[in-house]
Amino acid sequence: MKCTRLRIATRSLQASVIMRATYFSTTSRIALILLALISASSLLCLPALAKGSLEGVKIFIDPGHGGPDPGAVGPSGLHEADVNLRVSSVLANCLREYGGAQVMMSRTDDIDVSLGRRVTAANNWRADRFISVHHNASLNRDYNATETYVYYYADRTAVDMQEKVHRRVVEGLGLRDGQARTAGFYVLRYTSMPAILTEASYISNPYEEARLKDMGYTWREGYYIYLGIADHFGVAP
Ligand SMILES: [Zn+2]
Repeated sequence: MKCTRLRIATRSLQASVIMRATYFSTTSRIALILLALISASSLLCLPALAKGSLEGVKIFIDPGHGGPDPGAVGPSGLHEADVNLRVSSVLANCLREYGGAQVMMSRTDDIDVSLGRRVTAANNWRADRFISVHHNASLNRDYNATETYVYYYADRTAVDMQEKVHRRVVEGLGLRDGQARTAGFYVLRYTSMPAILTEASYISNPYEEARLKDMGYTWREGYYIYLGIADHFGVAP
């Protein structure tokens, strides 16, 4: 008798454990589905443009460095060239998918492309705008800021694009405002269309390098550059 009771008690305990386990896994599954729906809806809620707003506009994107030239290297070894390519790919996708723009890139892989070939490709394609994507480095590892460059003698169109992209990236990433600046960089000097060069942050800063390894963070950087270009063309959401 005792044995039977014990067996019944054990069985009901097992059943309740199984039920609880099932309930827990169902709850977890529901929670996961809810989380997925929330993240999907927040992505869908991004203020993307209706396709077609930049239709007919030709934008050349130049991910800095590549191949044997890694660009700046972060404290733990992250290559600027890789980060530049990731941000540039997001920017290209946003311009195509949200804006309907035509996009050409100087490289879509980790390969060596000379500065001359980058400029010639943009000029031959008769791009309307040129955007070179870089990340900066400093001997002072604490330093971090957002800078955006045009050529010393840039026209008003280039300066307008510079200011709008700079503002969006500063607001979006929330780093120190390192100012919209002028420089004599080759790709800014020899391109025949309005051109800017972005240095959204300093890869030499260990904290920033860690953030630059995160795909979500570099996605946002590309998206903010896109928003600045949309502002420049007067089609921002
Ligand atoms: Zn660079």
